[in-house]
Amino acid sequence: MLYLDHAATTPMRPEAREAMLPYFDDRFGNPSGIHGAARRAKDAIEASRERAAELIGAAHPLEIVFVGGGTEADNLAITGTALTATEHGSVVTTAIEHAAVIESVRFVERLGHRVTLIGVGEDGRVEPEEVAAAVDDDTVVVSVMAANNETGVVQPVAETARAVRSRFPDIAVHSDAVQAFNSQPVTVENLDVDLLSLSAHKFGGPQGVGLLYVRDGRRLEPVLHGGEQELGRRSGTHNVAGIVGMVAAMEAAFADREGYRSRVGAARDGFERALVSRLPNTTVTGGLSPRIASHSHVCFPDVDAETLLVRLDQDGIGAAAGAACHSGAVASSHVLTAMGMGDAEAARCVRFSFGWPDAAADGATAAERVAAVVEAIR
Ligand code: PLP
Repeated sequence: MLYLDHAATTPMRPEAREAMLPYFDDRFGNPSGIHGAARRAKDAIEASRERAAELIGAAHPLEIVFVGGGTEADNLAITGTALTATEHGSVVTTAIEHAAVIESVRFVERLGHRVTLIGVGEDGRVEPEEVAAAVDDDTVVVSVMAANNETGVVQPVAETARAVRSRFPDIAVHSDAVQAFNSQPVTVENLDVDLLSLSAHKFGGPQGVGLLYVRDGRRLEPVLHGGEQELGRRSGTHNVAGIVGMVAAMEAAFADREGYRSRVGAARDGFERALVSRLPNTTVTGGLSPRIASHSHVCFPDVDAETLLVRLDQDGIGAAAGAACHSGAVASSHVLTAMGMGDAEAARCVRFSFGWPDAAADGATAAERVAAVVEAIR
């Protein structure tokens, strides 16, 4: 199996798996209780919170809210902030966000908020001044992702935050950094944000757990109601093993970040070089923009992406297409459309994504195998 879909999910880092195991066994307590087993679980949660805060440069552990993944973090950031507006407010974000952000802003739009989606250039990047120009007195939150999940293109989050604050100093700025944590120095200071979403399974942690950083003093209405865990910001019994595993994976990814950038970046670059030289007219989306190390979004001149994905799978190669299939019709990816790509071209693009287990030399080998499948289809 040649797994080139790390943007969808990654295998667990051994450090995360090891750290989790005791919490399926003798350390099984519910941290909300008042006995020894509960206290041990609570201690694990609070130690994880402290370490997670350090790793993203948060000023205080209580700025970390543990949630059930990236989707929930994004929903809580957007909906939770929008609900703090006493009158109807406005939300400004980009046209290339993950569905977790786009559908959250659509939800608050139905609640009466105004929503503005800012487009991107052909290079896949948003212009900070364009975002800032869309902000007004009613705006409650601005959301710009750190790196796009389809193209891997890095967005100018800190520049956008500064441009927004130069006009409206109090507006909350959120960034979905779910795809960026492996290779970028993701800290709340570097991104200059008030809210930050992370998801464990994108950096070698378990699926179904994530965190939302909420800068001290920022108000947030809870979206889940019930047991008042996480200071009332996220009710529901803690996923203790998941949280411990996520922070162990964060720790490992943080320690491996430079190695990841050079190793995985070399695999990705070698892949693209070999693929383009063997299959001329193949183009790399956002190839001239700053990108995270893992992603390679490739458009083939004469091969349908759906056909290619099926044939790749038959050959033991796992990749992905950005297009979503709605009731039988394949809709172009909103990201590619925002970059000005037509439907016909978008239907010929596939996302290959490398990950932490890959070595620098794996890229050229992967390109040979992918190119062989493309040539067989032709
Ligand atoms: N945001 C981005 C940029 C993503 O790539 C993803 C997952 O694909 C998510 C959010 C959602 O994260 P999760 O799968 O943890 O819900």
